[in-house]
Amino acid sequence: MSSEKQTVHDFDLNIIYDYFSNTERQGPGSPEITLRALSFIDGLNEKSKIADIGCGTGGQTMILAKNTAGEITGIESWPEFVRQFNQNSKNQNLQDRVKCVTGNMENLPFQEEELDLIWSEGAIYNIGFEWGLNEWRKFLKSGGYIAITENTWFSEERPDEIQNFWQNAYPEIDTMPNKAAQMQKAGYLPIATFVVPDTVWKEYYSMQPRLQETFLKKHKGNKSAEEFIKYQRYEAELYRKYQAYYGYVFYIGKRVR
Ligand code: SAH
Repeated sequence: MSSEKQTVHDFDLNIIYDYFSNTERQGPGSPEITLRALSFIDGLNEKSKIADIGCGTGGQTMILAKNTAGEITGIESWPEFVRQFNQNSKNQNLQDRVKCVTGNMENLPFQEEELDLIWSEGAIYNIGFEWGLNEWRKFLKSGGYIAITENTWFSEERPDEIQNFWQNAYPEIDTMPNKAAQMQKAGYLPIATFVVPDTVWKEYYSMQPRLQETFLKKHKGNKSAEEFIKYQRYEAELYRKYQAYYGYVFYIGKRVR
């Protein structure tokens, strides 16, 4: 199979997780961008309950924690990331109010109307933006907020190569106005949307060669691992070529019904 025909879903999860293990972030994001999104959210205090869904090892969660007073629960399906998250929280002396539990974003372990804020960077695509927004709303208090990043088309038309790649990898990719409309239909007021700057993606891809080198040494001779790296490199090359056409957007919504 050529790397062009594969999608990330074709790889063994152990391979993918091993690749991203011990990284600070597992997707494009940065402290500045997390704080920019947080700046749109009002009314948080020490009683607030926050969930970070698909939190990975918690890079963005620790930023949130240092800039809010409430209790934060990370939800993550991969136990080794949960372990790394809780270690990070402890290292930063945040363990009393910042914890991660192993869980599934399709079936969140919260009560209805329990949360003041749902955070999710680079993760909702696992269950689909629209389905996820609809499913998660009930866990928010009325007037509570959601802040998520999502891969988004920047133009109405795209070159075939990039259109086909994302159509294959994530058919729900769509334009900003369409995503904002989905948010509105799911019962949120889209109070802010902003494009995650390309510098954040460049930073994300610039750490990859070092990761790839270590990973390939560790998995020498493992065909599946080599194919995965080929796929990663292809994805990064496509970003360099077509970054004018797509990228992450932060969508911040407020529950209105
Ligand atoms: N938010 C982090 C990680 C993004 S990667 C960051 O921005 O750096 C997406 C994360 O979602 C991964 O850690 C993956 O293990 C997790 N994930 C994928 N499917 C999941 C599911 N069904 N339930 C919970 N977490 C899931």
